[in-house]
Amino acid sequence: MKVLVFNCGSSSIKFKLFHMPEENVLAEGLVERVGSEDAFASLKTSHGKFEINQPIADYPTGFSIIKDMLLNAERGAIKSLSEVNACGHRVVHGGEKFGGSMPIDNELETGIEAVFDLAPLHNPPNLTGIQQARLIFGDIPQVACFDTAFHHSIPEVAFRYALPEKFYTDYQIRRYGFHGMSHQFVARQAARMMGMHKYSVNLITCHLGNGSSIAAIRDGHSVDTSMGLTPLEGLVMGTRSGDLDPGILFYLSRKGYDTDSLDTLLNKQSGLLGISGSSNDVRDLELKAAGGDESAALALDIFAYRIKKYIGSYMAVLNRVDAIVFTGGIGENGSAMRHRILSNMDQQGIVIDDTRNEIYTGVPGEIQGVTSRIKVMIIPTNEELAIARDTYKLTKN
Ligand code: ADP
Repeated sequence: MKVLVFNCGSSSIKFKLFHMPEENVLAEGLVERVGSEDAFASLKTSHGKFEINQPIADYPTGFSIIKDMLLNAERGAIKSLSEVNACGHRVVHGGEKFGGSMPIDNELETGIEAVFDLAPLHNPPNLTGIQQARLIFGDIPQVACFDTAFHHSIPEVAFRYALPEKFYTDYQIRRYGFHGMSHQFVARQAARMMGMHKYSVNLITCHLGNGSSIAAIRDGHSVDTSMGLTPLEGLVMGTRSGDLDPGILFYLSRKGYDTDSLDTLLNKQSGLLGISGSSNDVRDLELKAAGGDESAALALDIFAYRIKKYIGSYMAVLNRVDAIVFTGGIGENGSAMRHRILSNMDQQGIVIDDTRNEIYTGVPGEIQGVTSRIKVMIIPTNEELAIARDTYKLTKN
């Protein structure tokens, strides 16, 4: 069975074609800068890679290019559209309604639309992707996989903010959490690697990429996570501030900053980029810090300190922690960052082995030292595969 996975953003469409259940990748590609003159598309298959540079005005044009690339006689991946048996879509916000991946029907599409307000940058292109895929591939089954769904198990004590109840009931203001496909994927993988049942592990999973979040997992279920109503809360990120005193917003608004400029400040100009004044990329900042750039060093230290604080609080929440799991571009590859985060935690039962920390970069493995009570694991995430697995499971019959 062939499953085509889509991850549709505001100006990009990423896709990957899997042969299931073998999990072989038959093709992967992307369309970038949709809506601009210098857009481009690319496709990689076993027959090679090709790129197309041309203006791509809108989503329908982008999807039509994807169709043509997949069907390309020399370097495509399929001979006929009917070879694709199902599509899986990443959908960022499932609101309170969707606690797992779901086959897409009219009601589900209405549900995705109902939370446009909560994810205005993500859910509209996610829904457009679903509609475009239907126009191209016809009546084949489609599945929505929500970033919020894995966090549905978070109890009210952790998902409610300390606001009057009507802000929850009338405006749906609560913690939803994101990166759920990734936290779930690495949690299941960690259980397998430790030889434990998926519903008996207690973990702290750290997804550290451009966007970063951390989750507390008890008996295989998410019980708390750092992102909240939106992906802005929690850890320091590439360009997002993460946690800050909400009073800062009132203070700045009285200084003349309007809502849009505050949104831009906190989402696009803060985090690693804001503190360092030069880059949102951990690799760049490591080089600059090594060269004596104090702002770069401070950015890395604040990033690590925030994660250490969350790990400590989730250890208190979980009581027993079997492993701390690192994933995402920084979590998988940033050995210096992992060292910064977990240093001086021996009294909490966490000791990393520096040699193993260097070796296990981008590959799965355990990096704790022999005296460590808690395992420390590196597990590369694979959100597209997680979506392909759910899509296969829900549509194979
Ligand atoms: P996204 O959230 O966009 O999917 P990624 O998971 O790809 O992001 O992570 C991007 C981050 O990973 C960047 O900050 C980059 O600096 C970091 N990264 C990639 N490789 C390394 C490395 N070898 N050492 C440290 N950080 C790395």
